[in-house]
Amino acid sequence: MIHQVDIAYNLENVRRRIVAAAQRASRDYHEVTLVAVSKTMPAETVLAAYQAGQRHFGENRVQESQEKITCLSSLSDVYWHLIGHLQTNKIKTAVRLFDLIESVDSLHLAGALSRVAQAQGEKIAVLLEVNVAGEPSKFGFSPDELPGVAVSIASLPGLELQGLMTVAPISPNAEDVRPVFHRMRELRAGLCTTLPEVDWKHLSMGMTDDFEVGIEEGATIVRVGRAIFGVRG
Ligand SMILES: *Cc1c(COP(=O)(O)O)cnc(C)c1O
Repeated sequence: MIHQVDIAYNLENVRRRIVAAAQRASRDYHEVTLVAVSKTMPAETVLAAYQAGQRHFGENRVQESQEKITCLSSLSDVYWHLIGHLQTNKIKTAVRLFDLIESVDSLHLAGALSRVAQAQGEKIAVLLEVNVAGEPSKFGFSPDELPGVAVSIASLPGLELQGLMTVAPISPNAEDVRPVFHRMRELRAGLCTTLPEVDWKHLSMGMTDDFEVGIEEGATIVRVGRAIFGVRG
């Protein structure tokens, strides 16, 4: 496990890089939310990041995060993002635990989330996951189906659609993923035109290896794990 001082140091470093990337794109860095991806990390490591000022955390598995989030529930200003594929049988738990579900990747899941939200009389904030590069190993809507799917999901009660999320292909060179992020920005622009009643405010794109490119291309959320917590065991 890495030491608290390292986490504070790493966070400061990532924040500095976010500011610099925003500056290069003539953007206000306040538009960018840093989500610290704490998957596989224990609650005490999350707490160390919290003590260093971090408030947004990302988890990819409902089962794994349940104990962690419950354990840290006294920290009332923590904001939890679900960033991994959500199985239908975990929806109720996910809705209870998470503030934003970034990984809505099927109409079926959107419909099920809508029903849970309605039954509980609340609104669930969601992003639509897009598989820009069409990788078979990844979840998400294809760019081609996205416009139609967005219309259907926008009409579902109980969901607050807030934008798009993508996981870029793994590449040794961060520049290689720029076209993917650029495409995301175009997809959002298209949706802003065809579905102006939705506030497409978020573009969640960029991880440890490419978050600066993400910000240059318009990311409002970057999801960073290793650069903060170190390599996962
Ligand atoms: C693990 C993960 C991240 C963070 O990845 P790092 O390379 O550790 O920054 C971001 N997004 C998703 C969807 C992930 O699963």
